[in-house]
Amino acid sequence: MPRYKNFDIAIYFTTRCIASIHSMEAFEKDFGFFEKHLKCSKVYIETHRDDMDPGREKLLQLKQFFENKGIEVSGAITTTFMKISRNKPMIDETGIYGCGGSILGNAGNAEQQVEKGYKKEWATLCYTDEASRQRFKEIVEFAASIFDEIILDDFFFTNCTCPACIESKGEKSWEAFRLELMTEVSENLVVKPAKAVNPQVKMIIKYPNWYEAYQETGYNPETQPDIFDLVYTGTETRDTNHSMQHLPRYGSYSIVRWFENLKPGRVGGGWIDQWNSIQNINYYIEQAMLTFFAKGKELTLFCYSWLFDTVYIPPLGHELERLDRVIGEMGNPVGVAVYEPFHATGEEHLYDYLGMAGLAFEPMHQFPDKRSLIMLTANSAKDAAVLEKLKAHLLEGGDVCLTSGFLKEMAGRGIDEITSAKYTDKKVCSRDYMIDGHGSVFQGSFSGRDEITLPMVKYMNNAADCLIAAAKNDNNFPVLLKNSYGKGIVYTLTIPDDYAEIYQYPPEVLTVIRQYLMSDLGIYIEGREKIALFLYDNNTFILDSFRSEYSTRIKIHLSGAECRLMEIRSGKEVSVFMHKDSETVFEIEIQPMFYKAFKILQ
Ligand SMILES: [Zn+2]
Repeated sequence: MPRYKNFDIAIYFTTRCIASIHSMEAFEKDFGFFEKHLKCSKVYIETHRDDMDPGREKLLQLKQFFENKGIEVSGAITTTFMKISRNKPMIDETGIYGCGGSILGNAGNAEQQVEKGYKKEWATLCYTDEASRQRFKEIVEFAASIFDEIILDDFFFTNCTCPACIESKGEKSWEAFRLELMTEVSENLVVKPAKAVNPQVKMIIKYPNWYEAYQETGYNPETQPDIFDLVYTGTETRDTNHSMQHLPRYGSYSIVRWFENLKPGRVGGGWIDQWNSIQNINYYIEQAMLTFFAKGKELTLFCYSWLFDTVYIPPLGHELERLDRVIGEMGNPVGVAVYEPFHATGEEHLYDYLGMAGLAFEPMHQFPDKRSLIMLTANSAKDAAVLEKLKAHLLEGGDVCLTSGFLKEMAGRGIDEITSAKYTDKKVCSRDYMIDGHGSVFQGSFSGRDEITLPMVKYMNNAADCLIAAAKNDNNFPVLLKNSYGKGIVYTLTIPDDYAEIYQYPPEVLTVIRQYLMSDLGIYIEGREKIALFLYDNNTFILDSFRSEYSTRIKIHLSGAECRLMEIRSGKEVSVFMHKDSETVFEIEIQPMFYKAFKILQ
């Protein structure tokens, strides 16, 4: 069985995919489509979804089919069920997904007559309903009796607000109730029953990429990864602008990194689908590339029926071959450590937006234990002890970038000790900026393409220096501030109300932000937004364009007057654009939705 050298590809079979297989002879031919274009080394075969549960015989037949080909086979469960729920008279069958009432049970019952005014729909489970719990446990036991590894698709959450759940919740918040409930369910209805049936079985929890809502729906990365054998994550950001979830595309990279930092070596991989990608197939390919840029070990393609005989697979196969030739050269990802504690909200996905503005990030679940510059956002303020940790970091000589959202959350929590900057509830709209110069005089003014709305941050003159200001008529307001504390430097970055407005900054503003915040990493890029930099610990990096049109010229600034740079794929050295006293500058042209990998030569 041919395999890629640096990663694996798996194909996911839902219960509907399985139901579409009527003869193994015809399936052998159809599966050839995937074999022609991809080196597929694993399949996940689902034993339950909605109201469909394939029989043991068919599952065993499929398992044997793939094992004969030398392809690994794991099981999968999607924790959705069919329910009867009340339908509002004015909303038709395509209306709202809700959760109410008890599950219908197994497949046979799903065909029962639905009374007028009610409808049958898929939903996640009510985990306080005893019959539903028992049914779920049986589903897990059945899967464990066939497979030695089982993944739970990312419907393993609860949004149930039925009267019984309200009563069980009592005085707790939904967050506290659901985090506790799903930890208990993970232990008692998933891992223990599965291992009782099959002591060899490895259970995988797959987390969705909408991490901002984990705590509200009971996904608990603080407890569950220790209960399960492996974690996995969705990396399907798709076309952000036309998706209800509006997850920034950099998230296909950062979510893998957050989990890898949480459970080193125990992240099984990432998972993508083809939704929202037909208008630009590069959205589909990009999700795969970002998963592997983050050093994901395996990529699961959802799902067989949706991908069979489609236009997605041939270009994906082509790009995976190309990526396999360079990704092995890249070491471990590094970047500005950004503190994203468990169950945090506030400035969700902010580092994903900033990542696509050219800053390299490494999200961490713990306060970063390093001397270099770290970033704290409103999410970091979730940690009640964050101020003491920040103070110690600065006293030891580490630097920090505080976002305006962090300042807001920390008001009244002692942040005045660290900076004179204060978040106010006033706003300023501007498209003009000034950048630091000598003494207290700005050196020049630059204009963005459109106005952006910024919160006004107040600071005390000479207690902090304003490195970048938004200019408005006869006044100006800080975008980037700098002061010192102990042995460290404190930067304060004002974040636009709409994070996507970061892309409205002129290149000069973005470049100065990168220059200061990336100073510990020995590299920054000069140029426009939507070019990302992925850094690795062995003097390699990837430059990746998130732009949808036109080639862009970017300058790479490397620390050191005599650096050399090689493009890994071609093996050719890039000619130097400019030597400066303390840096070497290279100019790179990058096409839209394209990436280039480089090695810095010593
Ligand atoms: Zn319920």
